[in-house]
Amino acid sequence: MAQYDVDLFVIGAGSGGVRAARIAAGHGAKVMIAEEYRVGGTCVIRGCVPKKLLVYASRYSHDFVEAAGFGWTVPQPSFDWTALIANKDREIARLEAAYTSNLEKAGVEVVMSRAMLDDAHNVRLMSTGAHVRAEHVLISTGGQPFPGHSIPGIEHVISSNDVFHLPELPRRIFIHGGGYIAIEFACVFAGLGSQVTLVCRAQNILRGFDDDVRAHVRAEMERDGIEVVTGRTVARVDKPGALRARLDDGREIEADRILFAIGRSPNVSGFGLQEAGVNIAETGGIAVDPYSRSSLPHLRRHGLRRQADAGRSRQRADRGVLRARGRRRRPDRDRGAGALPDGAHLSHRVPAAAGDPVGPPDAHADEARGRRRYRPRGGLPHRRARRRRDDPAPRHRGEDGRHQGRPRRHFGGASDRRRGAGDHARAQQSLRPRSRAVT
Ligand SMILES: Cc1cc2nc3c(=O)[nH]c(=O)nc-3n(C[C@H](O)[C@H](O)[C@H](O)COP(=O)(O)OP(=O)(O)OC[C@H]3O[C@@H](n4cnc5c(N)ncnc54)[C@H](O)[C@@H]3O)c2cc1C
Repeated sequence: MAQYDVDLFVIGAGSGGVRAARIAAGHGAKVMIAEEYRVGGTCVIRGCVPKKLLVYASRYSHDFVEAAGFGWTVPQPSFDWTALIANKDREIARLEAAYTSNLEKAGVEVVMSRAMLDDAHNVRLMSTGAHVRAEHVLISTGGQPFPGHSIPGIEHVISSNDVFHLPELPRRIFIHGGGYIAIEFACVFAGLGSQVTLVCRAQNILRGFDDDVRAHVRAEMERDGIEVVTGRTVARVDKPGALRARLDDGREIEADRILFAIGRSPNVSGFGLQEAGVNIAETGGIAVDPYSRSSLPHLRRHGLRRQADAGRSRQRADRGVLRARGRRRRPDRDRGAGALPDGAHLSHRVPAAAGDPVGPPDAHADEARGRRRYRPRGGLPHRRARRRRDDPAPRHRGEDGRHQGRPRRHFGGASDRRRGAGDHARAQQSLRPRSRAVT
C-alpha cells in the first residue's frame, strides 16, 4: 500500500491554491484541493473580480454626464442595484465553474469541504470525516477582513465581504480605512450616487503609495463629493435608528451603512495548524523560511508576505513536490508555481495587489526612502563619465587605432546627454509589480 494518498494536498482554493494545484498536477503530482466556501477564493468570489464589476458600474454615471458635452442626449438615467448584484452573481458563478473545470481538467481532485490538519501528514475532510495522507501540504487559506479592536457597537459594522450582498444601495455610507480597498469602495458608492464619508487613521489616504498619487487621488475624491477625514479613528458605533459613528474627536456621523476596511488578517486558526506543530510568526501568519517552508518542512505556506513573517516568495509552494516527482522545471512558464532556481526569491517584489497602475503597495515609498538608495551598476553616472574621461582605454578606436571620441552609450535609447536616464527608468521598473492584473 502506498505510503501517501496524494503527493500534494492544498487547503484553500483561492488564487494561490488553485494555481499551485494545477501546476503541480501538470508536472505529474497527484493533487487534492479542499475548499470550504467557493472555488476561486477571495479574488473571484468577494474581492478583485466583483469589486471591479462594481467599479465599472459606477463609472457610467460620469460617462452619462460627459456624453452631453459630446452631443448626446441621454435620457435621465436610473440605476438598479438589485440588477447589478444579480448580474455580478451570475458572472461570479460562471468564473467559479471555470476554475473548477480547469482544476479537474488538470487532474486535480476538488473536494468541497473544510480541511483540518490532524497531524503533520494527515488531513481530515470535515464534510465526510475522511482522512487523507499527504506527502506535502500547502496552506493556501488566505485571509479575512480584520475588524479592528473591539469597540462598542462593532456588531453594526459590515466588512468588504458583506458589501457584495447588500440588499439595497445605501443612501449614505460611512467607510473606515485608507487602503486601496476602502478607497475603491468609496469611489464606487460615490459613483453610484451614495453620499460617502471616508475616515482614516493616517494623515493621508493610501499609505505607501507615491505622495503625488495620494494627493491627486484625494483631491479627485473630494471633487466627486466624498468627504475625506484623516487622522481620526472610530471610537464607537450606535444605532439609535440610523447608524451613527462617533469619531475619537467626538464628532458624530450618521449613515445607513458603516463599512470597516482597515486591513485583513491571515486565516491560520481553527484547522489544527498549531496543534500539528506549525509555528506562527509574531505578525500572525505562518512562520516560513525563504522557501516558504513552515516549521514542518513538508508543509508550506502560500500567501501574501504581509500575511506571514517577513518578505517571502508568494508562490513557491509546490517546489518540494516537483523535486519529489523528479520533474523538469520550466522556469519561465512556472515561475509563479515554484520553479524558481535555488536561492532566488522574489521577496519584496511581491505586490499586495496586482493590476493597480499607480504603484506597488508593497514597495512602500516611505520605507523605501529610508531603506534603499538606488546605485546603478558600475557607479553613479557622473562618476562613470569622470572615470572614462580620465582613462581613455574604453574609448572607441577606429581601424587606424585613433580615438573616435566618446563611446556612444545606450541607455534605453537615451542620448549621451541623458546618460543615466535609462538606469533610472530600469530602477523604477524594478520597483513596479511584475504580475499583471489578476482579472
Ligand atoms: C475587496 C477586495 C478587493 C481586492 N482587489 C484586488 C485587486 O484588485 N487586485 C489584487 O491583486 N488583489 C486584490 N485583492 C486581494 C486578493 O483578493 C487576494 O490577495 C487573493 O485573493 C489572495 O489569494 P489566496 O489564494 O492567498 O487566498 P484566498 O483567495 O483568500 O483563498 C483562500 C481560500 O481558502 C479557503 N479556506 C480557508 N480555510 C480553509 C480550510 N480550513 N479548509 C478549506 N478551505 C479553506 C477560503 O474559503 C478561501 O476560498 C482584493 C481583496 C479584497 C478583499
